[in-house]
Amino acid sequence: MDKIYKRRGGDSVLDDPYLSKIDYKDPTVCPDCEAVYHNKHWRFDDQLKHDIKFASKYEEKKCPACRKIEDNYPMGLVFLSGNFLLQHKKTILNTIRSEEKRAMQKNPLERIMEIEQKDDEYVIKTTTDALAHRIGKILHKSFKGELDYKFSDDQKLLRAFWSRKE
Ligand SMILES: [Zn+2]
Repeated sequence: MDKIYKRRGGDSVLDDPYLSKIDYKDPTVCPDCEAVYHNKHWRFDDQLKHDIKFASKYEEKKCPACRKIEDNYPMGLVFLSGNFLLQHKKTILNTIRSEEKRAMQKNPLERIMEIEQKDDEYVIKTTTDALAHRIGKILHKSFKGELDYKFSDDQKLLRAFWSRKE
């Protein structure tokens, strides 16, 4: 369960408290999003969910992503700014949503919690640092602009800053 996370200025092991501090029984079904925990993995799988509910005893417990959403505990923040954003808002937000979809297919715990607008800027809150990293990367790849990452020293939190002037 430990994940080594590489950061600038040295390697460090930083845990996701929502993954390391709670034990889930196998199988568990999340009552909110219906993700299934089985064989040490969370996944969206209708067939598996059906089989588990039909055939065996299972536990109902909120998955780490739904708990983070409930607690408003983002582990990634993506800050969007610049004139280009205002002119291409829809395309940019669609790109972000489809990147979330792609990430969720691999790992159902990677989700956008909230997209907040503050004046001319947007802040995307994500349940994992990895998803914030992916979103920064896809924006830079699709629309160029400037991309910067800031890692937190004492918690597994990633801030990504993407900006394009025109
Ligand atoms: Zn859930």
